[in-house]
Amino acid sequence: MRLLLLGGTLEARTVAQALAISGIDAVYSTAGRTEVPLLQPLAHRIGGFGGVEGLRTYIDAHQITHVIDATHPFAAQMSQNAFVACGADIKLLRLERAPWQETAGDSWLHVPNVEAALGALPTYPARVFLAIGKQNLTPFAQVPQHFYLLRLVDPAPEGVFGLQSVHAIIDRGPFDVADDLALLRDHQISHIVAKNSGGTGARAKLEASQILGLPVLMIDRPTLPQSAVAYSVTDVFAWLGHSTPIGTNLGV
Ligand code: NAP
Repeated sequence: MRLLLLGGTLEARTVAQALAISGIDAVYSTAGRTEVPLLQPLAHRIGGFGGVEGLRTYIDAHQITHVIDATHPFAAQMSQNAFVACGADIKLLRLERAPWQETAGDSWLHVPNVEAALGALPTYPARVFLAIGKQNLTPFAQVPQHFYLLRLVDPAPEGVFGLQSVHAIIDRGPFDVADDLALLRDHQISHIVAKNSGGTGARAKLEASQILGLPVLMIDRPTLPQSAVAYSVTDVFAWLGHSTPIGTNLGV
């Protein structure tokens, strides 16, 4: 068995740790979106493969037998590429985390994508926490009447994505509710735009929004291909036919 773990998430690093403890031959892959990748114990390759064809070439050249897709729920292109490249002969498993659910007291407006979130912002000048990472920010430059608060892992590039009224803070999760409450209050935020990533690391902003009664424009997840799905490290190891190493039996 030789495994390719498509990572970039907290859950992927948890699986990487369990694979390393079990001595399973595995390579960890990330797109290279952040300047300083977080540590994990497997051999690490960084950067795109070059589409489906490039990924298939990599799989064949490295005699990969199993692929675990533990990418972010919004990394739909990578998931689709993995699905096609694996075809019928390479075993593919997607590690999924449950989406966040709206609870009583939340004020969410569900939108299908970033463009719809943009269209759902008010016409009057608002103070918007754009909590969607760095890859889809430029469209918001079309709506320059709003103030935008960004939270980024790496410093913003020159020009800050073309946004006019903007403040970027550099921070990396997990975040907590008290800090996110202070953040929303300090910047007098009136609207939050979020992706329904699920998990615990970025949930605090939703609890803080609820406490302050702020509306959340929640971008729903893209549809992913129908591959086998795991929801925990135990599920992953069951699929691999191995027992889960002690101490890593975490739900994700
Ligand atoms: P994507 O749109 O699915 O992937 C675009 C391309 O990046 C892929 O086709 C592939 O390039 C390369 N790629 C992606 N993941 C890779 C991996 N693990 N190893 C090697 N190459 C990889 O995914 P994305 O661009 O990373 O992100 C899409 C969305 O997900 C964004 O909206 C982003 O905000 C969100 N996201 C969030 C996090 C997070 O931790 N919060 C992490 C990742 C993504 P080739 O076609 O050349 O192989």
